[in-house]
Amino acid sequence: MPDSPIRVAIIGGGLAGMTLAAGLTKIPQLDVQVYEAAADIAGSHGGSYIFNSTIQRSLERVIPSAQELLHRAGAVPNESSRFILGSGPDMGTVIFDNWATKLPPVSFRRARLLREIITQVPDDRIHASKKLIAIASNDHGVEVAFEDGTKGQFDAVIGADGIFGNVRKYVLGDTVADKYAAEPSGFWDIRVIQPYEKAKALLGEEIFKLDRQYVWIGDGSCILHDVLEDRTLVQCMICSGEAESPKDRRYHITREYLMETFSNWNDNPVAKGMIDLVLDCEKPYGYSQWEHRETPTYSNGRVCIIGDAAHATSSFHGFGAGTSIEDTMVLKALFHNISSPDEIEAAFKAFDSVRRARSQRVVNSSREIGDISLERHSEADKFRRALAPKFGFIDAIDYEEHEKEAVNKMKEILTS
Ligand SMILES: Cc1cc2nc3c(=O)[nH]c(=O)nc-3n(C[C@H](O)[C@H](O)[C@H](O)COP(=O)(O)OP(=O)(O)OC[C@H]3O[C@@H](n4cnc5c(N)ncnc54)[C@H](O)[C@@H]3O)c2cc1C
Repeated sequence: MPDSPIRVAIIGGGLAGMTLAAGLTKIPQLDVQVYEAAADIAGSHGGSYIFNSTIQRSLERVIPSAQELLHRAGAVPNESSRFILGSGPDMGTVIFDNWATKLPPVSFRRARLLREIITQVPDDRIHASKKLIAIASNDHGVEVAFEDGTKGQFDAVIGADGIFGNVRKYVLGDTVADKYAAEPSGFWDIRVIQPYEKAKALLGEEIFKLDRQYVWIGDGSCILHDVLEDRTLVQCMICSGEAESPKDRRYHITREYLMETFSNWNDNPVAKGMIDLVLDCEKPYGYSQWEHRETPTYSNGRVCIIGDAAHATSSFHGFGAGTSIEDTMVLKALFHNISSPDEIEAAFKAFDSVRRARSQRVVNSSREIGDISLERHSEADKFRRALAPKFGFIDAIDYEEHEKEAVNKMKEILTS
């Protein structure tokens, strides 16, 4: 144990920041504080997630009561994530069932899980309405400055401040940060959450007989739906390709636009129902999906980045949050093995060394899955051959080994 606790600031109270805080606040030698720009921490996080067994396993390594939290968040166990042909004469043909494992994938609303994770962090460690505006290293560690005029001095700073976060700019350095800024991945989507009975009436009873995520693909577009909140709600999503992204990333979606998008899906009642479902909301906005195509490092001295700040990705792997939670798992293992602030730089270098290749692979592979899913053909076999092998690497990871590799790397750096 060090004479005084190691002071750690987490910037950003999203899924990555709060999961990390839940893990690190259990380590006695650390004094962990979370700073979130928003006033209402979980409130700004809309949308829904599906976590496959791999994500659940990594979450359990950070928060041992993860299954209980998912249950309290109203998570619905799914039979699988079913890829199915959306257009053409073979429309409705199953391409393959993904994630059909012993531990079922679970779908839930993001804000509900975040609220549960926040219960794992002591209240006095969470600071809302704290927008970070500057970071500087000094002889005592790292100084952070907030928009409200306050400052803080820490031994380590972890940026979990999302895709356009400030910490990324510090880590990469002003001269190259723009070169590695987020950019369009080539896809846009609209996501709306609707009541279960309404979705069932419009999409058809048959596909609600089992709780399952459906991903309909073919001829330039994609439709996704899954069941949430103890079967009371359904996530409804349409995704398609884009030639050029709007500057503000936002599309005002109209019926005409969607009819054009699905012009080759006319016989599919799910497409018709889904158009009605996504338009039935106050503001039918679609968003361009952006990603980090390349990131030269996740660490700079005693500062590092995790989650979307490090590796924002398009949605096709359904593993953006998965990689973020893996980050927190590895950082927790590293901080368990630290007894002095002098070891932080080596820990962050080790984190970068073991995490970057895998996270970047997720970003690239997700874009490739998107490109294949939106191809303008409608042959189930062709999709199966191209898509099925893409998912294996996500689950083929031994987390115990992954953590050990990081800790050994840190020790190697410290002794070199
Ligand atoms: C609708 C939707 C559905 C998704 N579904 C899935 C899914 O099914 N499976 C999956 O694995 N992934 C999914 N993802 C991806 C996943 O959401 C992200 O990869 C993950 O949430 C990243 O979390 P994060 O904490 O790094 O970033 P964020 O969630 O963006 O959180 C960043 C936080 O930092 C705060 N912040 C920003 N700037 C500052 C600042 N200067 N100072 C202080 N705080 C700041 C923000 O307010 C925010 O709270 C989905 C994404 C979306 C948008």
